[in-house]
Amino acid sequence: MKQYSILLYYCYTQIEDPQAFREKHHFFCLDLNLRGRIIVAAEGINGTVSGLEGDCGKYMQHLKKDPRFSHIEFKVEASDNHAFQKLNVRVKSEIVNAGLPKINPRRKSGTYVEPGEFLELKKQEDVVVLDVRSNYEHRLGKFEGAITLDMENFREFPQKLPELESLKDKKVITYCTGGIKCEKASAFLLENGFENVYQLHGGIIKHGLEAGGEDFEGKCYVFDNRVAIDVNKVNPKVIAACHICQGKIDHMVNCANPSCNLHVPICPDCLIKYEGACSTECQKHPQKRPFNEEGYYQKTLNGYNPYRGIKRAEK
Ligand SMILES: [Zn+2]
Ligand SMILES: [Zn+2]
Repeated sequence: MKQYSILLYYCYTQIEDPQAFREKHHFFCLDLNLRGRIIVAAEGINGTVSGLEGDCGKYMQHLKKDPRFSHIEFKVEASDNHAFQKLNVRVKSEIVNAGLPKINPRRKSGTYVEPGEFLELKKQEDVVVLDVRSNYEHRLGKFEGAITLDMENFREFPQKLPELESLKDKKVITYCTGGIKCEKASAFLLENGFENVYQLHGGIIKHGLEAGGEDFEGKCYVFDNRVAIDVNKVNPKVIAACHICQGKIDHMVNCANPSCNLHVPICPDCLIKYEGACSTECQKHPQKRPFNEEGYYQKTLNGYNPYRGIKRAEK
């Protein structure tokens, strides 16, 4: 029995005083022993947290009964452990860094396509599937036949518009990890003259949970300790290549040299040969972490205490 849950969620809504909301929300999460990353902005909330199943249940209930978040949807995955080491609740100008603060998905964004409808729709002739994630994500895995963009960061998406010009008369379905980037990306396409824009509701994660992840090739990069997860239970396939020898592999690791820390797939043979490093240079680095078989290195926490430096204004 897996005792932990991992929640992935976002909600575009209006938060009047993000700073005050942040304070209260932080305490609420601490009291539930949740860990993870939550971003609060005037435009809404975006988070991924882990905690005991019961605590995650209380968290979801709490948010859903707040009228501002009544339309929130949670992607819930089971886990043996916490997926994060810390809890961070931050205020930012956007809940996903798109560099498009003026685009409001609540006004207009792509039509939702549910996981069950996606596979049918993507088979149609005039339909293209557009991955709006970054290089390190789609190199590890993507939907079969999807168009990918050469981006290091989602902020570069608006600059990719000229490349997409030829798709203007097609039906475009965008997708990302959990759906949040698509809210802005699809809205941006609509604002720029695309007429038939759809978005995979809940992203790859929800598709994995509800439609078996069919046609997703490779692994899905995630922003927690798991690094990459399997989503396809129907027709899985390996598409990534070892960073060192180019052999087919999708085991994600991070480089044992902490000042490099590159996240790439490396095969077990190369991992041993390079002692967990991504290159000969990194292998020789004086600070290189000792080789561990998993090939994944956690950040050291230096006595992290979630309550440190926190003052409760009310209780
Ligand atoms: Zn290799
Ligand atoms: Zn390296």
